[in-house]
Amino acid sequence: MLSAWPLSLFLILISPAIGSFLAVLVDRLPRGEDVVRRPSACRSCGTALGVGDLVPLASFIWRRGRCGHCAAPIPPWLFYMEIAATGLALLAVLEGDTPGHMIGTAVILWLLLALAVSDLMWFRLPDLLTGGLALVALAMAPDPRAAFLGAGLGVMAFAALRRGYRIMRKREGLGLGDVKLMAGLGAFVGLTHLPLLVLLGAVTAIAVALAGAWRQGRYDATRPLPFGTALCAAAFALWLVGLA
Ligand SMILES: [Zn+2]
Repeated sequence: MLSAWPLSLFLILISPAIGSFLAVLVDRLPRGEDVVRRPSACRSCGTALGVGDLVPLASFIWRRGRCGHCAAPIPPWLFYMEIAATGLALLAVLEGDTPGHMIGTAVILWLLLALAVSDLMWFRLPDLLTGGLALVALAMAPDPRAAFLGAGLGVMAFAALRRGYRIMRKREGLGLGDVKLMAGLGAFVGLTHLPLLVLLGAVTAIAVALAGAWRQGRYDATRPLPFGTALCAAAFALWLVGLA
């Protein structure tokens, strides 16, 4: 859409910085660290990062993935998140037909990315991210009724599953974060596609678990699975094929 091009350009230009901010959220929220007031510092030597260390995409390449002070390697996922956030902004711009749609879609995709990485790295789905996803997905829904029903049913089904597992197996099987995540994912895909989302997420999680077991030569049923990551990936796949 021609009239939306300044916004499209703006979204793409700020997206590496958004990716950088999402990486800070994923790095700090699960550890209970302050996101706003605490300045960025090297996790290895504690040196506060300067302007030259904080340029998204460029800093990592320029410093060759190492701290400028102690040369400790910087976790590459921070850099990958900046690239991924930029790619997602591009997709949102290509898919969005109005400025509001573009911004909303970009925000949802960015939140899905942050949640997926957070669960993968820490097995945590911070409330700030699951709550933000639910709010934006409900506000953005083309069919609010389907979104509310999707969110409600998603949360109820997962809460029941969590309770049932705990009663039967006498241990925690599904995190509370997964239950909260379903509010946003249910609103995003809507009631009709909710079963498909859960099926796709479960199949993905099981496939990854089996691949891991095959690689290690044994299967450990008590090993935690980042189910939230699989669900976010499933929601993204549904969105890609036009089902969200
Ligand atoms: Zn350092």
